[in-house]
Amino acid sequence: MSYTCLECARQGRDCCREAHAKFLTLRDAVRIAGFLREPVNTFAVYDFLKDKDREEYIYINRHQNYYYDLALRDERLLQIRQKSDGSCIFQEPTGPCRIYPARPLICRTYPFWLSSGGEIIFDGCSSDCPIVCDVTGNDGPEDIAKLSDRSGVARACALERVGYSRGDMKKFLDQMMVEIEDYRENIDAFIAENRVDVPASASALCLAAR
Ligand code: SF4
Repeated sequence: MSYTCLECARQGRDCCREAHAKFLTLRDAVRIAGFLREPVNTFAVYDFLKDKDREEYIYINRHQNYYYDLALRDERLLQIRQKSDGSCIFQEPTGPCRIYPARPLICRTYPFWLSSGGEIIFDGCSSDCPIVCDVTGNDGPEDIAKLSDRSGVARACALERVGYSRGDMKKFLDQMMVEIEDYRENIDAFIAENRVDVPASASALCLAAR
């Protein structure tokens, strides 16, 4: 986590505590397994999107592509196991990330995403991010219009507070697009090879109705 993310964690306002699915690319999973020296299936699970994911504007309204699209196939994503309260298993009780040097790409890029034109924008779920709320005045999922930032001033301010340059963030997001394609092509083989748990209980997602 950047300094600012640690500040959020100390205040109990960080995204690691939110009960969203913490998405893993295949390369994320391999890197974390190497860092921990544990098999992938000790921390990763191929599970359903969470209720909280389905609440989010960017998923429900689909105004642009997002990694949740990977769940359209069977409603599932490769993700980090959760604690009983929905928070990430890698978050220490005091806030910091236990796997910080090897953390997933989504943890490096949130609260940013790429527009369909390839420009850095705020992730549509970022009403959970105190930094975004501060710089945009956005304070809830229904306020997504406030994430519009044509001048880029709010984005620049948020990037500075998260601790990345625009170039660094673009590099991470471009890498995410590459790893999403890799995921799309190889997820089935990866799950089989790594014996990743695939929980049986189904949630009542209404993906086709969107
Ligand atoms: S892997 Fe680390 S940064 Fe990512 S959600 Fe978990 S605790 Fe937070």
